[in-house]
Amino acid sequence: MAGGTRRPRHRRILTLAVQACERLSPHFISITLGGDDVQHLEQSGYDQAGRLFFADPGNDDVVLPGNERWMLQHTLQSAGRRPRVRTYSIRRHAPESSAFDIEISLHEQDPAEGPVAPGTAWALAAEPGDKVAFLDEGYSYAPTPGATWQLLVGDESALPTALAILERSADTLPAEVFLEVPSAEDIRREVTAPPGTTIHWLPRGNPSTRPGTLALRAVKDARLPPGPFYTWTAGESSLATGIRRHLVGERHVPKSDISFRGYWRHGRASL
Ligand SMILES: Cc1cc2nc3c(=O)[nH]c(=O)nc-3n(C[C@H](O)[C@H](O)[C@H](O)COP(=O)(O)OP(=O)(O)OC[C@H]3O[C@@H](n4cnc5c(N)ncnc54)[C@H](O)[C@@H]3O)c2cc1C
Repeated sequence: MAGGTRRPRHRRILTLAVQACERLSPHFISITLGGDDVQHLEQSGYDQAGRLFFADPGNDDVVLPGNERWMLQHTLQSAGRRPRVRTYSIRRHAPESSAFDIEISLHEQDPAEGPVAPGTAWALAAEPGDKVAFLDEGYSYAPTPGATWQLLVGDESALPTALAILERSADTLPAEVFLEVPSAEDIRREVTAPPGTTIHWLPRGNPSTRPGTLALRAVKDARLPPGPFYTWTAGESSLATGIRRHLVGERHVPKSDISFRGYWRHGRASL
């Protein structure tokens, strides 16, 4: 990864509560998390993300972590008291109202693995007042000096982060964006982005198509703009690594100009 993940210098577990939930489209829910602890969140890179600790719906016995050494507490707790932990990006930070938004992509999973994935189950059931904890894990988006444009590629898990990056990018860094989404109804109609940006929406439609396939194919087939560029790609692991392999191997892009991150792995639950 170009420069790797930059961890925050100072961080602490934030104890927060759900303030609002909004269904954005068939496969996306926006959740506002807030509380006094938001003042301790150091705003950093545009793809800043953190670990969210939450209880399964209906489990009132969960004990949220008390400090950054959450792993130890996690290991010592009995299964019923252990919170779920999943990573989500900060979509929008509103320090003036002591809150920030995350956007969760809702997905189905193989019934053999269980009824509903914990992150999806939590997002669907979340209500104002629900307690959660959040631990900042830093960022990796860092455009290379000299880049005249940027290439952003992701599936639905990376869509909230890509939109956050576009909203905050300098006007001098137009983007070529490839975003794969589960359905045409998940396409965002209003996106704030630097002038000259082109967004290629790639709705899968067919639920049996493996996420990431369309975006990888589209980038391989694309006629990209001239000039030095910086790439940020995230999503299903094969998408992120496939994009990097393609750019380095076939387009001779220096590895140092690419940030890539597997956000999840096909067929594998997080943690
Ligand atoms: C730095 C970082 C930032 C992230 N930011 C976001 C974000 O802002 N919004 C967001 O929605 N996700 C984000 N993710 C991805 C998210 O953490 C994973 O998708 C996570 O696995 C979701 O947990 P779950 O409980 O829903 O599924 P899990 O229990 O982890 O997985 C259950 C099953 O579902 C599959 N699966 C997991 N995620 C997906 C998916 N997105 N689509 C289809 N199948 C899936 C797994 O392969 C597994 O088979 C981010 C990940 C990282 C590392």
